[in-house]
Amino acid sequence: MPVALICHGGAGNWRPGSEQDALDGMEAAAQRGRSILRAGGAALDAVCATVAALEDNPIFNAGTGAVLNFDGDCELDACVMESRGARAGAVAALKRVRNPVLVARKVMEETDHVMLAGEGAQRFARTMGFGDHDPVTPARLGDWRDKRAHLDQVLGRHSLKMRRFLAEHPEYAGGTVGAAAVDAEGVLAAATSTGGVTMKLVGRVGDSPIPGAGNYASAHVAASATGTGEYVMRALATRSISEAVERGAALPNALRDVLDRLGRDYDADVGLIAVDRAGNAAALHRTRDMPHAWFTGEAALVARMRVA
Ligand code: ASP
Repeated sequence: MPVALICHGGAGNWRPGSEQDALDGMEAAAQRGRSILRAGGAALDAVCATVAALEDNPIFNAGTGAVLNFDGDCELDACVMESRGARAGAVAALKRVRNPVLVARKVMEETDHVMLAGEGAQRFARTMGFGDHDPVTPARLGDWRDKRAHLDQVLGRHSLKMRRFLAEHPEYAGGTVGAAAVDAEGVLAAATSTGGVTMKLVGRVGDSPIPGAGNYASAHVAASATGTGEYVMRALATRSISEAVERGAALPNALRDVLDRLGRDYDADVGLIAVDRAGNAAALHRTRDMPHAWFTGEAALVARMRVA
């Protein structure tokens, strides 16, 4: 079976000057997954290695360098899913861990549950040997201070709604990471990790840890979504891609249909990536940028800032 992997670094607007760093980061992370798949490794190992590399890269909104919530803290969401046995594991609003995606994998492999949240997720992470790690970077803290100042100006004090602010400051959106892969045995896997949306309310959980919303793997498709999670959740975007492919749609058409629906119903600022069982990869987004990298079969790795 032909192997394939695609990964994204979040739908949004990248700040001018940061594009090359984003592309280099995508390429290096995808390379990790590619080495695993080409050595006959599992899709699950490949997507976890890719996403963990992106979590460790502070320019992306996941793991170290994730965006901060309203109180100036990182609350991290992540999910892994594998087609074999339709297994899934997730963490939500998890604090002080370096690689949430690896904790999500442990939830899948070591518990009877699919998702652990908040304090319980953190306690589980420690039990599994994940040490204390502060993901807040000086750059994100500076951003947060700046945002809080802007927020007061734009919305007035104590506003609980961020839509207007983000519409006026699209440079503050994006940076979630995700990967989807198919291995030589035809097993599909997807992984997604995020700090969520900037200045989110404390306790807010997005689409990324929810199987079928921000992350999904079935016997047909593995997919990851990015962008405002409140829309992705309501549309069950990644599950919808899988259903379209199951009904016979070609992968690019399935992504197009789901993205069009997100546009029609919500005018949503979102992006999608996916691979199918035959080893095809596809990406599509409604934002200006969505750094992504992919390879299929024997072909070389390609990294791009946006889908042409
Ligand atoms: N989907 C993520 C969330 O809503 C954010 C993003 O992808 O930019 O938590």
